[in-house]
Amino acid sequence: MPLEILTIPCLSDNYAFLAHDAASGETALIDVPEAGAIIDALARTGWTLSHVLLTHHHADHVQGLSELLSRHPAKVVGAKADISRLPALDIALAEGDTITIGGDTGTVIDVSGHTIGHIAFHFPASKAVFTADSLMALGCGRLFEGTATQMFASLGKLAALPSDTIVYSGHEYTQTNANFALTIEPGNVDLVARADDIKQARARNQPTVPSTLALELATNPFLRAAEPSVQNGVGMVGAEPVAVFAEVRARKDRF
Ligand code: ZN
Ligand code: FE
Repeated sequence: MPLEILTIPCLSDNYAFLAHDAASGETALIDVPEAGAIIDALARTGWTLSHVLLTHHHADHVQGLSELLSRHPAKVVGAKADISRLPALDIALAEGDTITIGGDTGTVIDVSGHTIGHIAFHFPASKAVFTADSLMALGCGRLFEGTATQMFASLGKLAALPSDTIVYSGHEYTQTNANFALTIEPGNVDLVARADDIKQARARNQPTVPSTLALELATNPFLRAAEPSVQNGVGMVGAEPVAVFAEVRARKDRF
């Protein structure tokens, strides 16, 4: 049974998500940038929080947790690999481990790169993957702790999910990401069309998250390092895809 998923804008540009199973009443929150917007969403929906899934240790993904738990007790789930930096976990998971929310059993994917110990949660029955600051809408997270090789491998695991998977990422960075992607692949017609959609959505103050994996595969330069058009865009035709990815990431850091 697919989960009902609600996108919750938090702080200035973060997203949290509630994933609700109507049959069991279980409701998971993915990341806690702040307590207030999430407490409001729980009040509005009438859903009872059962789990909090944490993707990585950065403050803008965990800092609302203690205030939230004081109002809405729930099991806290996160990466075993990062247990020393995360808030106290009730359930510590590693790559391949599962977490069941109502009728959907999610699998943990290690997506280290932005941080070491960053995880994503893939819920196949809901066609949903929660990627936070690994694969982002038209982008990927900055390499604060890991290497380009690690992030490239992490993105490769996400790219291998079914292409109709919906990608729930952690930030509204998409307009800037579009401006950057167009510098790499100005002739990609899917990218040009998407950039136009993003501009219109943002002008109406609408979120550009979630997106679909199919759209990311067609337009996201960080997933397209093997494409001749991207290799040409960075002057590295025929180079190893991981080296092309590293160059695209380095250019984005300077953009
Ligand atoms: Zn982060
Ligand atoms: Fe973040």
